Amino acid sequence: MQTRPCWVEIDTRVLEDNYRFLRTLAGPETECLAIVKADAYGHGLTLCGPAAVRADARWLGVTSAEEGIALRAVCPAARILVMGGIFDGQAEAVLSHKLTAVVWDAAQIAMLGRSAADAGLAPGSVPVHLEIDTGMSRQGVAPENLPEVLGAIAQHPALWMESVMTHLYASDEAGGETSGEQLARLEEALTRIGESPSSAASRPEMLSVGASAALLGGEAGAIIGMAGRWSLRPMLRLGLALYGVVPRFVPPFAPGESPITLERGIEALRPVLAWKTRVAGVREIAAGTQVGYNGTFVATEPMKLALLPLGYADGLDRRLGNHFCLLVHGQRAPLIGRVSMDQAVIDVTEIEGVGPGDEVVVLGRQGEDTVSAFEHADAAGTIPWEVFTRIAARVQRIEVR
Ligand SMILES: *Cc1c(COP(=O)(O)O)cnc(C)c1O
Repeated sequence: MQTRPCWVEIDTRVLEDNYRFLRTLAGPETECLAIVKADAYGHGLTLCGPAAVRADARWLGVTSAEEGIALRAVCPAARILVMGGIFDGQAEAVLSHKLTAVVWDAAQIAMLGRSAADAGLAPGSVPVHLEIDTGMSRQGVAPENLPEVLGAIAQHPALWMESVMTHLYASDEAGGETSGEQLARLEEALTRIGESPSSAASRPEMLSVGASAALLGGEAGAIIGMAGRWSLRPMLRLGLALYGVVPRFVPPFAPGESPITLERGIEALRPVLAWKTRVAGVREIAAGTQVGYNGTFVATEPMKLALLPLGYADGLDRRLGNHFCLLVHGQRAPLIGRVSMDQAVIDVTEIEGVGPGDEVVVLGRQGEDTVSAFEHADAAGTIPWEVFTRIAARVQRIEVR
């Protein structure tokens, strides 16, 4: 049976094109990991993981072991990086599904090392990526605490450190000072790792730094240069840009000063997702009629309203009520009254001939106009990442290509 008409269309061919373009920007020596965490930013893991692999992505990134296991079922050969840590009781599954864990503390390392020993795995057969906290204070080991963590890795012969990673937390600031400081701290960590007396287990091959904003905002050059100085292969981890949304730089680059990577990205990247619904019914109301919970909208003249089968439980932010427009017949129709849990109402008084079954674009293009993820984000006081990941599971993801 079909779901009620509230769905997202995922153009996996566009995702493939975006990935290939980003890899061209990053250069042939750079490994571009495709981020598919959080159900591929709400776009659908089982659609987007295989699409990235078709575009020749060798590495995919998820948050958790459970996401990694779901991804392994559809991407049997890809390297899968579990970035959000592993938790009690997960090490065995991480190993059996050949997931690669990001680690940063001795307990995680011991969990993996013990499971590997129990499974009789060969020395050096379990890669881990070691995250350095270079200033975000979220996850990762501080450079000064490296000896303990390197010692822990050395205690478990099955483990080897394949990559050193860090996460830049202000790549979307055009000035780049914060990222510069983070790279300096990363350099300090690499020096300590180089000087460490531990075994070959502490000789990494890759340096994994930087997300979409680092690549498009022009920081990738510094990352690639640093990797080269240490004879490491650079890895970028690309999320938002893969889905065709260019991060916003704040403060913005001065006119004429934006990096060529950003200019090219704005031209080439296309959104992968379109969110749609259909008019469920149309009604006419008289002046003075209230619309929606608490009557926050009162008609001052006769109006024509269209009822839509989508609400905040589908991910349409409740703050958009009375403050946002959706597209019908290629024109902007204001959301009026409060957004309900499962329904919303738009004003189609000025739009000729709207009737039941007509397609409404919630996010995406219709005719000459587009409602972007950034428009949604601005209206709801959030960021495109959250707009996408809040599109509810009950909204069907349909592949189009
Ligand atoms: C989500 C995530 C990324 C991707 O970030 P974008 O800004 O969406 O490109 C990269 N690295 C890590 C560790 C992440 O968690």
